[in-house]
Amino acid sequence: MIVAVTAAVIGAKRIGADETRAATAAEGEEAAWLEPLVTRARRAGLRVLEGRRLVLVTDRPTRAGDGVADLPMLFDQAFECWCDHYGMSADDAGEWRALGCLVVDRERFRAAGLLPAGVPEFANGFCDGSRFWLMDQSNPAYRRHLLLHEGVHAFTLTLRELATPVWYTEGVAEYLATHRLDHDADGSPRFVATPIPDRSEDVEQLGRIEMIRDLRTLDRAPALAGVLGQTAGEHGAIRDYAASWAAVALFANHPAYAESFANLERGPLSPDLDQRLAALPGWDADRAARDFDAFTDGLDYGWDFSRMAIDWTVSPPLDAPREFTVAADRGWQNAGASLAAGKRYALATHGRVGLGSMTDQASGLVTPLESEPAGISLEWYRGRPIGRLLVAQWGVDQPGSRPRFVVVAEGDAAEFEARFDGPVYLRVNDSPRGLTNNTGAYEVGLQSRPSR
Ligand SMILES: [Zn+2]
Repeated sequence: MIVAVTAAVIGAKRIGADETRAATAAEGEEAAWLEPLVTRARRAGLRVLEGRRLVLVTDRPTRAGDGVADLPMLFDQAFECWCDHYGMSADDAGEWRALGCLVVDRERFRAAGLLPAGVPEFANGFCDGSRFWLMDQSNPAYRRHLLLHEGVHAFTLTLRELATPVWYTEGVAEYLATHRLDHDADGSPRFVATPIPDRSEDVEQLGRIEMIRDLRTLDRAPALAGVLGQTAGEHGAIRDYAASWAAVALFANHPAYAESFANLERGPLSPDLDQRLAALPGWDADRAARDFDAFTDGLDYGWDFSRMAIDWTVSPPLDAPREFTVAADRGWQNAGASLAAGKRYALATHGRVGLGSMTDQASGLVTPLESEPAGISLEWYRGRPIGRLLVAQWGVDQPGSRPRFVVVAEGDAAEFEARFDGPVYLRVNDSPRGLTNNTGAYEVGLQSRPSR
């Protein structure tokens, strides 16, 4: 997953000035560098699989059903998504092609002259301009992911002349490689981008969401500043890839950043990317840090930034009884009132919400799921029944932890003490993926109580 930053633009039309000339010169170059390597591979008895955008060379023996023969076609489909991501048309890429080596035995590639001495001893993959190498993987889904991850490096290093800080280089490779497979009517597989996967089965063995969750549980999740500030030498563990992916996923999808970040990505992918990020209109570093912490705090499959975006506004204190409406199809909602640390409050909730439906496997009978503020105990999420009304505050729960939503009260009625000075947040307990089919709202009453 390492990249060499000595990228050469090979076989590609540069975006911007000099387009036609660069394209003509580059197209000539393409044949010049790729063809002799393909000839060498064939002479050495290696398998050569050709797509429009990828020539894949491998020493992996042909095995029915391993999906290797489909990789160039899936790469071509992914390539179109990468062009879309950067606002390019396929024409902008000219006759661009990458050469990928899927390696079982490095010696065979060395002997064939396809693994130059300048390529370091990589563990999983390595990319140098439009050439990349990856070690074969036993899991087909992870093999595809790794191939596409290196493919994004090849694409960005050459077609976008990428020279960004490592969090973006690796984060966008993870982000644009994440996919699931669909199958066409004739059974042939199709690449479907799932930059934020919808379910764990879609991204077998990728484990990035689980990694972030584990880091959170162990109080070792990085702050946004720690992710952005990482140097290439420090980046290498799986957790670094997970955190870089999370940063790119946040900026590319959160309604507060998505549009300006897309513009940023379509500009130069230069070493000063972080400075240009900080100069975006409306950029607020503290807010971005909180948004990142809120993302890693709640992260799960099917995360939808538009439903989960947090309003961080600090409203006036709750000094008289108030009623709030809490939608069942959203994450944490700022009630529009602040609590004072150590003060006592009373909660009273009423109403019914819809939580989708449940299908009985045996009879096929579909039962709508409805809940009152105590929740329904037949399904739990994060240690609490789904449908349960939750009251939280944002803050540091334990010394040394990242800030998170700390639940201070729950259910239909409770008396509780505020943990922090600051806004009160309300939500209906459910998984991020479960929110999409939720309907209705609870009415929540809050009032201050005399101190004990
Ligand atoms: Zn990489």
